[in-house]
Amino acid sequence: MSLHKDEAIVLFKRAYGESDKIIRLFTRTSGKIAAIAKGASKSQKRFMNTLEPFNHITVEYFEKYGKGMARLENADIVETNHGIETSLKKACIASFFTEFVDRLTKEKEAHESLFFALKELLFAVKRHDFLYSDIIYYQFLMLDILGYMPNFDSCVYCGSTIPDEKKTHFSKERGGILCKSCARSIPHTVCGEGVIPGLMSIKNREKPLANMFFEHQARDIMEGFMSFHLDVEFRSYRILKSVVL
Ligand SMILES: [Zn+2]
Repeated sequence: MSLHKDEAIVLFKRAYGESDKIIRLFTRTSGKIAAIAKGASKSQKRFMNTLEPFNHITVEYFEKYGKGMARLENADIVETNHGIETSLKKACIASFFTEFVDRLTKEKEAHESLFFALKELLFAVKRHDFLYSDIIYYQFLMLDILGYMPNFDSCVYCGSTIPDEKKTHFSKERGGILCKSCARSIPHTVCGEGVIPGLMSIKNREKPLANMFFEHQARDIMEGFMSFHLDVEFRSYRILKSVVL
């Protein structure tokens, strides 16, 4: 057994037995790992407040402990989750994105840029009041890293370039926009002129969505795409939606 040193974001924590805790970490260099923190529930000193969800920590762990689980030796705070608890909206957003990372990555599959994206999101949500466009921005950032970014540039069927004002047909099944002639034979959603370019400008961090009408359509597009392609239902998204969206 060799000792690993890494940085990690805490995704999930639960008590195990009388004195231990099981946690799921998204580490910078090894991706997602499950670990057991022996004595974490008993000792006040050991792991004190470090293993809370959304914390950014440094960790030392031994791989292979029992059922493929790592054994956590040490953990220290880099940045606490302090600030997220100040509003239900912040907590919902943080929960959604940690679930997003948790559900869409496999154990021990390294995704360093996703680690940085999650770290940046948690940092930002503590300090700023998020608009819906901020949520979409981080969804795009993570979808892009994972290779799921929808195609908003050219027709996903024939490949032809579509001018911005004609980007009004979106196929969630094919994962992008359709030109007018392909749209005749392929199922799609029609959205208002400017919605797709609006989404593109959010991706490029240019400007927030112009109005509620845009926002509503943008949300339909994103939800349809996500539920079709990712094949997971995010419990935290349902809560986020019912609370703040
Ligand atoms: Zn086409």
